[in-house]
Amino acid sequence: MPKPLPIVEFLKLPEGGDPYLEGQRCGSCGAIFLGERTTCSSCGKSDQFSATKLSNQGELYVYSIVHRSFPGIEVPYVSAIVDLEGGGTVKGNLINIDPDPEKVKMGMPVEVVYQIAPRKDADGNEYMTYYFQPRA
Ligand SMILES: [Zn+2]
Repeated sequence: MPKPLPIVEFLKLPEGGDPYLEGQRCGSCGAIFLGERTTCSSCGKSDQFSATKLSNQGELYVYSIVHRSFPGIEVPYVSAIVDLEGGGTVKGNLINIDPDPEKVKMGMPVEVVYQIAPRKDADGNEYMTYYFQPRA
C-alpha cells in the first residue's frame, strides 16, 4: 500500500513513527510559527529558525460552527484554532463533539489526532490529515 501524503507541509510522517506537526522556532525569541518563513514577526530577526516537533495537546483558543461549505463537505462542523502546549497555534476541524455552542467551550483541552482524509486526489493518492478532538 503506498504511503499517504501529508495534507499540509507542516504535517510530518516519519518512517516507522507517529505523525506529528512541525513548527519553526525562532532561535532569538522562541516564538513558534507553522510553515516556512525567513523573518520572525515577533522579534523581527531573520534566518534564526529551526524545526521543532509540536505537542499533540493543546487548548481550544477560538472556534466557529460552519453551516455552509463546499458541495460534498458535511455540515455543520466546528472550525477551530488551538494553542498547542509549548507553543504553536494551529487551525483545523474539531471532531467527536456536537457542533453545539453549549458543548464547545473556549479553553477546553483538546488533542491532535491523525487520520486518512476522506477523499483522494485525482491521481488516487491518499492524504494524511489532522483533526482536534476533546481530550478524555
Ligand atoms: Zn523571534
